[in-house]
Amino acid sequence: MLKIERLFENNRAWARQHTNADPQFFSRLTTLQSPKLLWIGCADSRVPANEILGLAPGEVFVHRNVANLVIHSDMNCLSVIQYAVEILKVEHIILCGHYGCGGVRAAYGHTQFGLIDNWLRNIKDTYARHNDELARIMEDDTREDRLCELNVLAQVESICHTTILQNAWARGQQLEVHGFIYRLQDGLLHDLAVSITGSEQIQDIYRM
Ligand SMILES: [Zn+2]
Repeated sequence: MLKIERLFENNRAWARQHTNADPQFFSRLTTLQSPKLLWIGCADSRVPANEILGLAPGEVFVHRNVANLVIHSDMNCLSVIQYAVEILKVEHIILCGHYGCGGVRAAYGHTQFGLIDNWLRNIKDTYARHNDELARIMEDDTREDRLCELNVLAQVESICHTTILQNAWARGQQLEVHGFIYRLQDGLLHDLAVSITGSEQIQDIYRM
């Protein structure tokens, strides 16, 4: 069983390391939080935002949930986006998925896992929307990888469909939304090149 005391030992060593390198590190962070980035990623323990981006505390605002979903009725995620955009005034929102995502795999299959199946239903909707493209992929693993990418794309669009983003752009706020995907096997991030920088890039029906 994991010894909880070990976590405090790790924490003390980590704090000491930062203080040794920069004695003002923590006192500076107590007075200011001004990250330029919002990261929305998967809750998967292997995809930690700060470590992957090589960023220190204070540099990235983070929201994570199972399979990095942005659901238009999820007050938790919407509140994070609103605070990041309107108060912190982040310049970039990164929606990051990852290959080998357990949530995507579960949605891809037909086994019941409980309440979470209702959350993952959103990924089945994405599958259904891209059924023709996915059906043409012969390899199971490749099809699952593509579903991971399509899930990222769907969430990038979902972020941009919110009134939060559209109002920010209408005010002239510089804000870019990006779709990245992470590969567990090599630790590398890839830009899916689906960035959105203004309301004119979103489908007409969603424009406010
Ligand atoms: Zn995942």
